[in-house]
Amino acid sequence: MAEKEIIIDAIINGEKYKAEKQEPRENPTHPNEIVGYAPVNTVEDTIKAIDVAHETFITWRESSIDDRVERMRRAIQKIKDNTPEIAKLLSREHGKALYDSEGEIGVSLMWMEYACDNVKEVLKNEVQEHDNGKTIIAKDAIGVVSAITPWNYPISLSTIKIAPALLAGNTMVLKPSPLAPLAVSRVVEIIADEFPPGVLNMVHGEADVGVELTSNPKIAKIAFTGGTETAKHIMKAAADTIKHMTLELGGNDAAIILSDFDVNDVRAMRRLVISNFLTAGQICMIAKRVYVDQSIYDQFVEKYIEAANKWIRVGDPFDNNVTVGPVNNQKQAEYVQSLVDDAAGKGAKIVKLGTILDQELFEEGYFMQPTVVLGADQNDPIVVEEQFGPTVPILPFENDQHAIELANDSIFGLTSSVWGKEEHAIDVAKHIQAGTTMINTAAVQGLDVRFPFGGVKQSGIGREYGKEGILAYTDTHVINVPKNRDLPYIPE
Ligand code: NAD
Repeated sequence: MAEKEIIIDAIINGEKYKAEKQEPRENPTHPNEIVGYAPVNTVEDTIKAIDVAHETFITWRESSIDDRVERMRRAIQKIKDNTPEIAKLLSREHGKALYDSEGEIGVSLMWMEYACDNVKEVLKNEVQEHDNGKTIIAKDAIGVVSAITPWNYPISLSTIKIAPALLAGNTMVLKPSPLAPLAVSRVVEIIADEFPPGVLNMVHGEADVGVELTSNPKIAKIAFTGGTETAKHIMKAAADTIKHMTLELGGNDAAIILSDFDVNDVRAMRRLVISNFLTAGQICMIAKRVYVDQSIYDQFVEKYIEAANKWIRVGDPFDNNVTVGPVNNQKQAEYVQSLVDDAAGKGAKIVKLGTILDQELFEEGYFMQPTVVLGADQNDPIVVEEQFGPTVPILPFENDQHAIELANDSIFGLTSSVWGKEEHAIDVAKHIQAGTTMINTAAVQGLDVRFPFGGVKQSGIGREYGKEGILAYTDTHVINVPKNRDLPYIPE
């Protein structure tokens, strides 16, 4: 039986807001099937949402933290209650396997709970009594936050912003990506319903909406997750009105396999494979380049292919046996294929991995058979660019110093991982330029919502998660009551 098409509206001032135009969202597993429709909001709609959020901020910033936490906890419970339905919708519009959608919602809830548990402590005024009187250091809300999010983890990358922003007393206008707009909208509806009208607003649309959200003078902070190229436009758009900014951008994360890595450790090898191919490789923090000590390179490649063939089962996201679904959209699939073809054209060996469970379905949807690329050069696009899909190059290195140089030879610096004996791996990790370096695990397997996450170099500015991820939605406000109010060196 055909599934019901989902119709999503914008949310402005607590009300569903009908846009004049709707955009269909296809199912990447069955591209002829429409999963639902999201609005295509205009710049005028966006200005309305910003105006409402700006007006609401005046009262919302004065609300008590207890009240905010209570509201957020009610939303958390409702998202929990609706997880099966939301996860199913996410898998249909996104293509990620059902376990993966459930995992994304699980991590989102974990973070929202962490933010509720910690916001009071993080925002507590620091009061110092000192030899020159008293100083209060307060953490004030910033104002209207515009949140702009990508398609790959639409729910977690939206809630990562919504929870701390609202709990800290800000209001928000959020814009999801048109490539996965439906399931996240369900989550936003649930949260918005628990808060006063105008606190959390949502508009949908393309770059014109994004430009308004990043240039409107009433926006005080931009919280953006997406590509590095888009972020360059955003920084320019925001320059005229000097906005706060958290930018979570692309990555080209290196995994370094040291000489003392045990190639026969099947659990570790499985973790590495997962850190290359989870969500069909469409994760900012997936291990996108694997560097292996040349002394173990041949054995490593043999065992890696064995592990990959075992774990990778490509097919319908709703088949419990499937680990890798289709790529989210045709353009992305073509881009990834172009990188693989380029490497093959230059003489690299392309090894297909895993099993295709249903050949007919494979040809119908935006599926790609995962591949490993052997013999590519450090300067080839497959190594230099963020592929964001189910393929990974494996390259040898001569010694630890060489591995560090190769890993750092990138404009990106999001996460990275080092695999081998723990102390040795930590020693190497210290020299890598990245926001996070994981030891003997990688990608979301090594993620912990209690600790700050973000990138260095062109992978971003600022941090999400952890206490820093809450503080990112505040500004420091010092209330100073000095005893000596006149400066002695200023003449009478
Ligand atoms: P994207 O940059 O194309 O789009 C992200 C969002 O920006 C979308 O909502 C899009 O509509 C909007 N947008 C487009 N043009 C805009 C403009 N001029 N002004 C304002 N907004 C605009 O990214 P994507 O393809 O959706 O996502 C993939 C990218 O996101 C990858 O590079 C990936 O690494 C990155 N990403 C980073 C993280 C992280 O935490 N660092 C997490 C997930 C994804």
